[in-house]
Amino acid sequence: MKIFFLFLFVISASVSFAQQHKTENLIVVTLDGMRWQEVFGGADPVLMKDKRFTHDSGTVAALFGSEERTERRRKLFPFLWGTVAVRGQLYGDRLSGSEVNNANPYKFSYPGYNEIFTGYPDSGVNSNDKIKNPNTNVLEFIGKQKGYQGRIAAFTTWDVFPYILNRWRSGIYVNSDVDTLKFNTPALKLINDMQFLEAKPIDVRLDLLTYFAGREYLKAYKPRVLYIAFDETDDFAHEGAYDQYLKSAHAEDGMIGDLWNTIQSMPEYRNKTTLIITSDHGRGDQIKEQWTDHGERILDAGHIWIAVLGPDTKAEGLVKTPAPLYQKQIAPTLAALLGFHFIPDHGTSGPIQSIYH
Ligand SMILES: [Zn+2]
Repeated sequence: MKIFFLFLFVISASVSFAQQHKTENLIVVTLDGMRWQEVFGGADPVLMKDKRFTHDSGTVAALFGSEERTERRRKLFPFLWGTVAVRGQLYGDRLSGSEVNNANPYKFSYPGYNEIFTGYPDSGVNSNDKIKNPNTNVLEFIGKQKGYQGRIAAFTTWDVFPYILNRWRSGIYVNSDVDTLKFNTPALKLINDMQFLEAKPIDVRLDLLTYFAGREYLKAYKPRVLYIAFDETDDFAHEGAYDQYLKSAHAEDGMIGDLWNTIQSMPEYRNKTTLIITSDHGRGDQIKEQWTDHGERILDAGHIWIAVLGPDTKAEGLVKTPAPLYQKQIAPTLAALLGFHFIPDHGTSGPIQSIYH
């Protein structure tokens, strides 16, 4: 009898522990080089009027302009401010005591994505070249856990991600740029045809097609972890096209909202999936013209942001942080949301506990 009660106690203890973490699936989305300044402040009133960067100031002002910072950000990112800020958390508004930084000194893409997913700002990862990443990433770590094998997928616009996530070693399904979508569903066949026939204005697959490939894969194959990596914001910023940078950011916010509605309509995901949105690096700001650029020598380029929505994340909106957070904390946080403990290959970094406590 004693053994029976002990058995019951162990079962109820493990059930109550499991209830602390409702997250069973993860959706990660990145907006390449998207500045925290626009995420929290909307369209920059100076850059919007600067003819060097904004061809049609009238249209941009009508779409995204306002005297009020809070109104501008709501117009640019309606999902972030209408849903995530109400039911989830946002980090990185430096004007309100919330800081998130690159720990790596390079402040460009591969080192940033390496830091996000491997939890370590590796000084050996310091170029955007197509080099197979030697570091273990948290997605492949999750893919080795029970119930997650073969159920991790990444859809990316930029064609360096197969190397960053080392698909040859990691076992993650990584579909980038115009990798053929070899899937036998009508939607994925159509997207595959479209990606080979589009004009590629930024020389890689449109973010829109990356998004729909990811969404339709999710609906058909139900991955436990899905990563979608958008790229257009960085490309248009480098071109100095502030209007198109804003329009891409706004469109991506809409796609993220559509993805959230999709998963909340599916029993496999509803109320047991956490969405995390972030960026690989920031861009210049103090020297106004440097908004187009980033990298080691650009002031402010290491300033980033994180947004989270899910069943384990308290509805706190903008979270003030007593000390700066770092990009390297995202990998252990992703693992912790699923109840796993991820230790990077080198160094250590703790999860952001306020995301799931
Ligand atoms: Zn860039």
